[in-house]
Amino acid sequence: MRPAPEGPAVKRLALIGGGHAHVHVLDAFARQPFPDTEVTLISPYPRQIYSGMLPGWIAGHYSIEQCAIPIDLLARRAGIRFVQTACTDIDLESKQVRCANGQLIPFDLVSIDSGPTVNLDHTPGASLRALPIRPIEEFVTEWPDLLQRARLQTPGFRQAIIGDGAAGTELAFAIAHRFSREKIVHARITLIGGNDRPLSGLPAGLRNEALSLLKQRGIEYLPNRRAIEFLPEAVYLSDDTKIACDASLIVTGAAAPAWPSRSGLACDSDGFIRVTSTLQSGSHPWVFAAGDVAAYADPRPKSGVFAVRAGPVLANNLRAACAGTALQIWSPQVRALYLISTGKRHALAAWGPLSTSGNWVWRWKDRIDHRFVQRFS
Ligand SMILES: Cc1cc2nc3c(=O)[nH]c(=O)nc-3n(C[C@H](O)[C@H](O)[C@H](O)COP(=O)(O)OP(=O)(O)OC[C@H]3O[C@@H](n4cnc5c(N)ncnc54)[C@H](O)[C@@H]3O)c2cc1C
Repeated sequence: MRPAPEGPAVKRLALIGGGHAHVHVLDAFARQPFPDTEVTLISPYPRQIYSGMLPGWIAGHYSIEQCAIPIDLLARRAGIRFVQTACTDIDLESKQVRCANGQLIPFDLVSIDSGPTVNLDHTPGASLRALPIRPIEEFVTEWPDLLQRARLQTPGFRQAIIGDGAAGTELAFAIAHRFSREKIVHARITLIGGNDRPLSGLPAGLRNEALSLLKQRGIEYLPNRRAIEFLPEAVYLSDDTKIACDASLIVTGAAAPAWPSRSGLACDSDGFIRVTSTLQSGSHPWVFAAGDVAAYADPRPKSGVFAVRAGPVLANNLRAACAGTALQIWSPQVRALYLISTGKRHALAAWGPLSTSGNWVWRWKDRIDHRFVQRFS
């Protein structure tokens, strides 16, 4: 157990972002309010789209409402003030959150669960011509237009997906399934990634299965290359080839937002906020962080699983810090369960070196995902 941060009785707690860990904090507060604490939630959107169900929405299995956690209502239920805007940075001297709408939100304690971003800055043409998967709300707004373009441009709509990790591969399967359901004929879907097979980091058998499923579903896979420039109707790749495409989607893993390091918080070399095992900032103990924006003392892959698991400890430690009692140490689990849908009601599963697949895996994932969203709805 570590001592709580020193200082006067804490009265104002600012929560930045309504990510996976903070929905636990909102829920914990609703069940048992923190005594003598005013809490403000700052989020650009009133709902949190659960990324685990996003491929299912694209595939057409779910409505967007089924994938959404209404964080504004969760906050209201907990008596927490909800401010709909984004944090642009934190003034660590005066302890205020600066917001995109010009508001300054003073705090005694601040907790950050604002997730990752997609880095478009290093690839020419990306911000103009490609659609990033994040912010997810913006992707959700753009997807119906993209789908409509594909419907109107049938036959032969060409969709490129950049990034062959779990999210990019899942999205490739989901888009292929949706196009086939919509009878968008002769669409060409190309998955481009820097690895020799999709799903890097997962067991070899599962990666091989994903590879053969991509082939079966008619998805072209271009391994061992990166997108280096987005041109009108084409993507230039690192092997000097050019892929013609009508739309390109970027799903290249978690990048850090610029504002935490700009604010002066201690960050790792990639810009993620360094936190101790109590989820306190390594440089400012009255700042807490969890989820993909955090660089944990005991590092783990960027994954919703770890953001979810950090939630109860974060809620506990914020309560303890408000009350001036001892904080709990978090030891993240060693392994996470990966469940990857393959477009149809079928999914792949990996747990450490073990893997399996089948329609039953999709039903299992569906139950877990629904339970998570419904718990907070
Ligand atoms: C298509 C897809 C599928 C995925 N599937 C899975 C899966 O099945 N299992 C899994 O474990 N992981 C999955 N992931 C990864 C997972 O989405 C992330 O690891 C997870 O979202 C991280 O959670 P988080 O709480 O850190 O951030 P997020 O879930 O990104 O939440 C951050 C919140 O903060 C808000 N925010 C952002 N910036 C600001 C700001 N400046 N000020 C205030 N608020 C802000 C955002 O709007 C958002 O509501 C998937 C990712 C994608 C893209």
